[in-house]
Amino acid sequence: MTPPANSSCSNFESSVPSCWQAFATSVLEGQQLNDEDALKVLEAPDNELLDLLHAAFRIRHNYFGRKVQLYYLMNAKSGLCPEDCTYCSQSKISTAEIPRYNLLKRDELLAGAQAAADRQAKTYCIVISARGPSEREMAAVEQIVPEIKERYQLDVCACLGLLTPDQAVRLKICGVDRVNHNLNSGEEFYSQICSTHTYQDRIDTLRAVRNAGMELCSGGIVGMGESSQDIVDMAIQLRDLRVESIPVNFLNPIEGTPLAERNELTPNYCLKVLAMFRLVNPDREIRIAGGRELHLGSLQALGLYAANSIFVGDYLTTEGQIPEADYAMIRNMGFEVAEPSREKTVDASGS
Ligand code: SF4
Repeated sequence: MTPPANSSCSNFESSVPSCWQAFATSVLEGQQLNDEDALKVLEAPDNELLDLLHAAFRIRHNYFGRKVQLYYLMNAKSGLCPEDCTYCSQSKISTAEIPRYNLLKRDELLAGAQAAADRQAKTYCIVISARGPSEREMAAVEQIVPEIKERYQLDVCACLGLLTPDQAVRLKICGVDRVNHNLNSGEEFYSQICSTHTYQDRIDTLRAVRNAGMELCSGGIVGMGESSQDIVDMAIQLRDLRVESIPVNFLNPIEGTPLAERNELTPNYCLKVLAMFRLVNPDREIRIAGGRELHLGSLQALGLYAANSIFVGDYLTTEGQIPEADYAMIRNMGFEVAEPSREKTVDASGS
């Protein structure tokens, strides 16, 4: 994608359209942002940040208007995970002080669905810490999902770790709408954050989910020591997989994990990351996920110019801000919470 000859990305006082606006116009005309231009977005001068966010907002507005989709997370099984993901407080190598428990009981999972509905969430995300689900966990999910869907106007997203094709089909049959399985970073960097499974294992799970006919939710974590190129690689891989929903997490360095000392993100960089994801994945749902309050701080509202979704409530092992603060932020920005809906947008072209 080549910006017009008279455009500028370096002179924020120029009256000609910046290359960020040129990028947005090209994307709205159906072109894809290439690798090199995506990297330029992450390297944008801070003086051009508002212009960049405006470019991202033109795309966001075209596909999602001023709506904000809310998601509610339930950590249905915490800790005790045999994997060694270095960013995760629930891994076997973490000594973080977190609650550790086995799969929650039916009543607790239903109470979570009630809380999701009460908070105007569109989607109830049931997450377990695991390499993949045991037969007992699969059976429990198969039992609870139809009950949740019967009682509430909620979509259900299951995050159960690596899945076999058969397990993916079983989740589809019991009514799971979407499966979350994050790529977490670019392929090059992946082996530096996990040794017990591979990037390809994660891709294989996403393909199994797609082949079973469910939507894909997959994103990553920024701030683990990866390069800007790694983040771009992930965004482009997610585009190639036609992932419907992309959670963008910003590392919350938790004491007791190998990445506890890593704290290199700035709010401005986080906003550039969100803008880049919007430009690369224009019509996909982009969610500001974990680390929103910690890293964006008082700028988190600006993130909604690029992203169209947030979690309401707590994250898996860290606290989020109170829901009332989220509703106030959405209102004050002139945005509105999207109504829950059961419309499906499964995209088979990336399978
Ligand atoms: S597989 Fe999931 S729960 Fe387990 S250590 Fe990795 S990120 Fe944490």
